[in-house]
Amino acid sequence: MKSRESWGRYPQVEQQTHALVWRTDALPRKDGSLLPHGLGRSYGDSCLNAGGTLLLTSGLDRFIAFDPATGVIRCEAGVSLDTILRLVAPRGWFLPVTPGTKFVTVGGAIANDVHGKNHHRGGTFGRFVRRFELLRSDGSRRVCAPDENPDWYGATIGGLGLTGLITWAEVQLTPISNPYVLQETVPFGNLDGFLDVARASEKDYEFTMAWVDCLARGKKLGRGLLYRGNFAPPQFDGLPLARSHLSHGVGLAVPMDMPAFCLNRLSVSAFNWLYYHRQNGKPKQRLTHYDPFFYPLDAIYAWNRIYGRRGFLQFQCVVPYSTARDALKEILERSSRGGLPSFLSVLKTFGDIPSPGWLSFPREGVTLAMDFANRGEKTWKLVEDLDRLTRQAGGAVYPAKDALMSPENFAAYFPQRERFMQYVDPSFSSSFWRRVNPVSLPFSLAAERGETASPPPRSLLAIR
Ligand SMILES: Cc1cc2nc3c(=O)[nH]c(=O)nc-3n(C[C@H](O)[C@H](O)[C@H](O)COP(=O)(O)OP(=O)(O)OC[C@H]3O[C@@H](n4cnc5c(N)ncnc54)[C@H](O)[C@@H]3O)c2cc1C
Repeated sequence: MKSRESWGRYPQVEQQTHALVWRTDALPRKDGSLLPHGLGRSYGDSCLNAGGTLLLTSGLDRFIAFDPATGVIRCEAGVSLDTILRLVAPRGWFLPVTPGTKFVTVGGAIANDVHGKNHHRGGTFGRFVRRFELLRSDGSRRVCAPDENPDWYGATIGGLGLTGLITWAEVQLTPISNPYVLQETVPFGNLDGFLDVARASEKDYEFTMAWVDCLARGKKLGRGLLYRGNFAPPQFDGLPLARSHLSHGVGLAVPMDMPAFCLNRLSVSAFNWLYYHRQNGKPKQRLTHYDPFFYPLDAIYAWNRIYGRRGFLQFQCVVPYSTARDALKEILERSSRGGLPSFLSVLKTFGDIPSPGWLSFPREGVTLAMDFANRGEKTWKLVEDLDRLTRQAGGAVYPAKDALMSPENFAAYFPQRERFMQYVDPSFSSSFWRRVNPVSLPFSLAAERGETASPPPRSLLAIR
């Protein structure tokens, strides 16, 4: 058994690994369950399989076809978005939807039906997946598309890797004239300010997202900086490509696990104050390469180590517009009161374009993501409270970021759960899946948490 981490490094679990090397190979026969694993950029336990086997897809890394005239690309599921961009961006194409890191695989992007800064215009990644092959543990293979095996298509997009292994996929890319983005940064003084400027930006800007100072209180609650942008028009063609596009290396690295005391209320407050005020309260425009615009965090290798050895939890929710103002206020106030500063907090809007996956997370409203260092019970209790506030507001929490969601909340957030369950491969499972469906729990949750972990929060004790 080997320990393999998700991005949040919590929970720590023991599991076997099996490296896949060729897309036509059969799945291995193993004791215990199987789970595909991409680059492990999910934060919690949806990419972990305690006591079972992870099918490592990084060996499925080949391109199969690319048509530079239409922008249709077909590749194996372990190809990363980074690798795709290196091929297609210089040829005038870009990903139709991209998350905040390019170090994710195509299979992982489909299984979480990821979203980006353009949800209001483009919806989710799954909408651009023309077809893929699904390999089941009984050896059957199906091509899935909106008009071919549509149920398998809907179950597998956003299906958390539970319906089988995606071996290859075909994606429709989007045209760009050059690799540059015209970006504008707009400060907003509080949550109302964010809602106004974000909604107003949707008409003229393809990409929007905001950094929020989660420690600001009172009238400044929810203040931050909104980043909005569009790919630059043809008059900017011909500028030399920035180094970051070619190297995709990482400039900085976090060399070790940082001690827990480094991230405290004072240090985060100071950082937030400086970050907010460097803008001088005025909008700023600049031309930037797509890499720093879409992937600022990728420039720091292993940045997840700043949270120390115990890792961190990310909480990402979406709440409908009708409840957003009050719910987000409460969520920000609760997290600020909790004494656990979120180092990185992001606000975005989701438009009304329906997601193709039955379990897809994005839905119309406002989404807030926050990172909390894992301080045991105190952090779990905070995240559990934020979960409760989200549910009360009629929202949902993102499984790709989650490590604590209760079965009751999962059922409330994903009403198509029952329908989905009929498509789960009987040999596939994950730590997340067993947690939110405790009936089929084959072993104790305490073991999944690791022997050193403190007792779980009360709501989880109830389901053991
Ligand atoms: C810095 C950072 C920023 C992020 N920003 C965003 C964002 O803006 N929007 C967003 O939506 N997400 C975001 N994420 C989350 C990330 O995009 C998703 O978790 C993504 O799915 C990770 O892909 P992966 O290849 O690392 O897959 P893993 O994390 O290894 O696995 C994710 C899921 O995919 C399944 N899977 C993987 N490969 C296959 C396959 N071949 N067949 C079937 N199932 C498979 C796994 O079983 C698992 O359920 C971010 C993550 C980080 C670290």
